[in-house]
Amino acid sequence: MTQDELFKVLVAHCKEYGFIFPSSEIYDGLAAVYDYGQMGVELKNNIKQYWWNAMTRLNENIVGIDSCIFMHPRIWEASGHVGAFNDPLIDNKDSKKRYRADVLIEEFLAKIEEKMNKEVEKGRKRFGEAFDEDQFRATNPNVLREKAKFDAVHSRFVEVQEAGDLAGYKQIIVDNNIVCPISGTCNWTDVRQFNLMFSTSMGSTAEGANTIYLRPETAQGIFVNYLNVQKTGRMKLPFGIAQIGKAFRNEIVARQFVFRMREFEQMEMQFFIKPGTELEWFAKWKENRMKWHVNLGMGAENYRFHDHEKLAHYANAATDIEFCFPFGFKELEGIHSRTDWDLGNHQKFSGRKIQYFDNETSEAFTPYVVETSIGVDRMVLAVLSHSYKEEQLENGESRVVLSIPAPLAPVKAAVLPLVKKDGLPELAQEVMDELKFDFNCQYEEKDSIGKRYRRQDAIGTPFCITVDHESLVDRCVTVRDRDTMQQERVPIGELRSLIDKRVNLNNLLRNL
Ligand code: ATP
Repeated sequence: MTQDELFKVLVAHCKEYGFIFPSSEIYDGLAAVYDYGQMGVELKNNIKQYWWNAMTRLNENIVGIDSCIFMHPRIWEASGHVGAFNDPLIDNKDSKKRYRADVLIEEFLAKIEEKMNKEVEKGRKRFGEAFDEDQFRATNPNVLREKAKFDAVHSRFVEVQEAGDLAGYKQIIVDNNIVCPISGTCNWTDVRQFNLMFSTSMGSTAEGANTIYLRPETAQGIFVNYLNVQKTGRMKLPFGIAQIGKAFRNEIVARQFVFRMREFEQMEMQFFIKPGTELEWFAKWKENRMKWHVNLGMGAENYRFHDHEKLAHYANAATDIEFCFPFGFKELEGIHSRTDWDLGNHQKFSGRKIQYFDNETSEAFTPYVVETSIGVDRMVLAVLSHSYKEEQLENGESRVVLSIPAPLAPVKAAVLPLVKKDGLPELAQEVMDELKFDFNCQYEEKDSIGKRYRRQDAIGTPFCITVDHESLVDRCVTVRDRDTMQQERVPIGELRSLIDKRVNLNNLLRNL
């Protein structure tokens, strides 16, 4: 199966098993908006809990807040979103499709890189053990030709981005004959800026109404509460404020499922520090966040840092943690050193003094900030796309299994009476009652045991517990492991600790 096909199959699987549905589906859906179903919401909540506890429980100097989606409109002037939260947009005149000009160029660059890598792989096959990749890259004429092309386009791209040169984007597209994937033509409109914020109005009368925005990030809710939290929590630098909440962006290109949505959820943490220590904290948070990801056991090779060459106006260092999604390595989380840009601007725009008084040095200053910002939905997609497997079994059958890291699995255990009679449902219900306070469990008595196992595999349930006739006598049950499919006989009284060992979130947190 190609990665493209895998992605399509995954989207269908998410719908079939109650993870993610297109929003407003009975009205044919709403572009780039998705709802989480009965399984999806559990997975999402577990991810949020893993993040929240890692931030606020493991760090005594990080506390949480929950600020509103609606905020004073001046906030978005101070943050730069009214003036500069724009994407360069371009339309193809033949297909009438709209694209982000920067993304078209990035994809073009990725294709050149792919060509170079293919040449390298050919060389590796040809030369076998004696292959020296560095030497090959430095001398092979095909690789060198592609590399020169890449460098030329890339350096122009960086210049154009830095200058915000809209005509420059178009020129790169035209010069390199970058075509629309739908129409195949290079018949483009000019590039225009497009503000990504959604607006609405607040107030009961038309004259008195104010234009307000749906927040495009949760971070500003943290900045404008900095003084409140610092004072009421008697927080000393360095300290952090964490928040999980919805954000809204009128994205131009709305493809790739929950990777890019118009309504999505972020988990952000702003870490307030002394000016001058930001690069040290930036390095620490890079390491800390990568550890959080790798700790889930989805393979360290599936993550990489992508340090930014072009820095946003507010940042003096920035990196992305990228994950290997079915459509390639893409941003999952951003880590930014934002200096005093946000607090400084809120000070200017609000007229309030936003500072920290250092008792030791008797100095007052505006703290610097290092932020970590991750999309919950991208994390859900990372987990699901990594977990989805179609396996061929020894007995000739096949199964679809979601090998979701056990502490994140929506359902931790399924309790299955072998038959719907002879007192087995009653005993199974007793097992449910024993487990339900600690774990999200599912009781299922329909269909054959084999079919029930398959259904649980497909939603990623780590344990299936079967109650049979012998259980009535020995009060033992059969426990089947999702990944190994091994079965063992376990006394009912030991179930709780057996399941807990594998699914307790604290085990993950302890490794951090
Ligand atoms: P991209 O370059 O992919 O548009 P970004 O750099 O604009 O992302 P940030 O502003 O740094 O993203 O937002 C922080 C995080 O929020 C991202 O790493 C991502 O996980 C998530 N995120 C941003 N935009 C979206 C979206 N439209 N849908 C889902 N998640 C998003």
